[in-house]
Amino acid sequence: MFQIAVYGKGGIGKSTLSANISYSLSLKNKKVMQIGCDPKHDSTRLLLGGRAQTTVLDYVRETPVLRRKLEDVIEIGSGGVLCAESGGPEPGIGCAGRGILTTFDTLKKLGADSYDTDIRVYDVLGDVVCGGFAVPLREEYADAVILVTSGEFMSMYAANNIMKGLANFDTGKPRLLGLILNSRGVENEEESVKRFADAAGVPVIAAIPRDSSFRAAEAAGKTVRELFPDSDLSVAIDSVADLIIKTSEGKQPLYDPRPLDDDQMTDLAAGRPVRPGSPEKIRDPCSGCGRRRSIKGTRIMDSCAAFGAMAAFMKLTDWTVLLHGPESCMYLMEMSRGGMSRSLYPESAGGTAAALKVCCTMMDDSASIFGGTGKLKEKLEELCEEGCGKIAVVTTCMPGIIGDHSADAIEHIRKKYPGAELALIESDGDIAGDYTDGFRMAVREITGMIDPSVRPERRYVNLVGISFFDLQSPGCMAELDRILSVFGLKINCRFLDDCPSGDIRMFCRAETDLLLSGSPSDLSIMGMISERTGRKPFPCPLPIGMKDYGKWLEAMGKFAGMEEEAAREWKNAEEKYDLYVRNNRKVFEGKKIIIIDRLKRSCVWAAELLADLGAEIVRIGCFSRCGEPGMTCPERFGGVTVENYSPKMLEDDLESLDPDLLICDLLFRTGKKCRTARIGRSGVGPGGVLRFADYVGNVLRLPATEGWKEDGE
Ligand code: SF4
Repeated sequence: MFQIAVYGKGGIGKSTLSANISYSLSLKNKKVMQIGCDPKHDSTRLLLGGRAQTTVLDYVRETPVLRRKLEDVIEIGSGGVLCAESGGPEPGIGCAGRGILTTFDTLKKLGADSYDTDIRVYDVLGDVVCGGFAVPLREEYADAVILVTSGEFMSMYAANNIMKGLANFDTGKPRLLGLILNSRGVENEEESVKRFADAAGVPVIAAIPRDSSFRAAEAAGKTVRELFPDSDLSVAIDSVADLIIKTSEGKQPLYDPRPLDDDQMTDLAAGRPVRPGSPEKIRDPCSGCGRRRSIKGTRIMDSCAAFGAMAAFMKLTDWTVLLHGPESCMYLMEMSRGGMSRSLYPESAGGTAAALKVCCTMMDDSASIFGGTGKLKEKLEELCEEGCGKIAVVTTCMPGIIGDHSADAIEHIRKKYPGAELALIESDGDIAGDYTDGFRMAVREITGMIDPSVRPERRYVNLVGISFFDLQSPGCMAELDRILSVFGLKINCRFLDDCPSGDIRMFCRAETDLLLSGSPSDLSIMGMISERTGRKPFPCPLPIGMKDYGKWLEAMGKFAGMEEEAAREWKNAEEKYDLYVRNNRKVFEGKKIIIIDRLKRSCVWAAELLADLGAEIVRIGCFSRCGEPGMTCPERFGGVTVENYSPKMLEDDLESLDPDLLICDLLFRTGKKCRTARIGRSGVGPGGVLRFADYVGNVLRLPATEGWKEDGE
């Protein structure tokens, strides 16, 4: 079967021409199927006596899968042409491009390929350049493409865009048969189209004059080719049909178009000579590192904004998160959850989405085509009826792409359930950016819950941030409580970690805000809180490592007016640390260690600890990606610190430095002799440092390879 796609701007007459061409092909003893791919669904009308047929998308929406039959969506038109129409959603709702994909998929599943057909004609709307409308350009569909254009600029512009689409679906062989000029009677029309065609390096295969016969045929619900078989128009249409047949027999050359750039299109519009187009293929916009970047191009996309927004709201223990999107997004996020960070998902809340009160609107194909706002309303109502009074709606890519009006659903629920607290985070999957962007969007919303009028009370502090500390670990919390108790401090709100929204509201009850770290993410959260409340954080973030602890104690002693207590605590901590170092040196002494700072967290504290214990730090590799700055280390490790460290450099270092241990946030396969340890989430204060030392010491005590392994295995 030979397949040809006829593309053209909406209203240019491609459907009329496609129907005429299909009919003409049928007169030449070809078995033809025509598939209309325009939401207007009028492609096959002239083959069906002026009658509109049931569209595939309406049929799919109304008919359960098991009751669907091919005969319900394929009709036999004039000349025995098999007719199908894709259809599409209401203008402004849903995604018609997605509808094309569904139509093709449905026809295939219902067995459309089993029809004995010689030529299949796709009649496709060419104004839209999204992936859905480009489906017929794919190799598995169009063997050849015809572009219908008039001499109007926008019509040629649409044709040029299709040429660009063809370049993007490069199959390695030319596929453009040529342009058909469908005259609109504008000035110098033939000349304009000829100049366009010449510059793009493609022929004009037919010029169809403006003729009242088209209107007469339209009124009769027939093709011109059927109603006026002896007209000049029919001769022109037959010539196109002949060309298609020759092409299907491999007797007609096809062309690789050279789409025009903006300057060339401007020259064309201005009537100036147009230099020939470039044969260059459309290039991938990110030719640098090859990793996926956000639309803004500012950041590498590790995970989508919807995931980030969901993760932020999941930290509020009394809120339900409703992910507006397909189940697959939910699944992906669940999978990432398991592998990424347990601190995002408190064990206390159980291990499953259900336990964490996360749910999904489960947008399906139908919602992606016809819009998902209705589904969102339904799910919100269901949750409100179940008694969920606080719901954050997080949008995924799909509602973003199809332009769902999620805010309408929220408004509807607010009116129907006036007591419900609702938040809408239009993260739109990765359209709004990456994980961090989505997280920030949600945090901004959450900071809006803070009541700035609440007065501070003595001895209350807030924790602010998400970095570094594994606050879920009992050891870490116990040490933090111990340190705070030195100054009689109590935690008011953990922003943002396992926290009821009541604590967020009462945020300003605390005297000061302790940053978990000085990382950009923690500072950014504090920045949003400051915007809302005008508060400034405590000058020293919570300490990791002995140096930080000394500074922090001094600052807190002054703040709380308890310098003596601070000095006493420092003396105790130092004694404990020195004793630990003395007792454990033999495990670490002479051991060569590489530390990788892959996530740009400071690892200096770990390097200092291990050096105090007698280990030799042979490399600190700071991964900075795509030009982002990496962490720097102080003088003590300046000689071994390398910025822009790469996996290749690590490979070389493993070979040349022959380390005993590699410390990283992920486990690497390093070869036989070198052990690996995770830097992970460190603990706060001296207790956290010594727990980490215990862990590394245990790794060093273990044999470098498992005893049961034989050489060579
Ligand atoms: S929201 Fe978008 S980027 Fe995120 S998981 Fe879903 S499809 Fe993927």
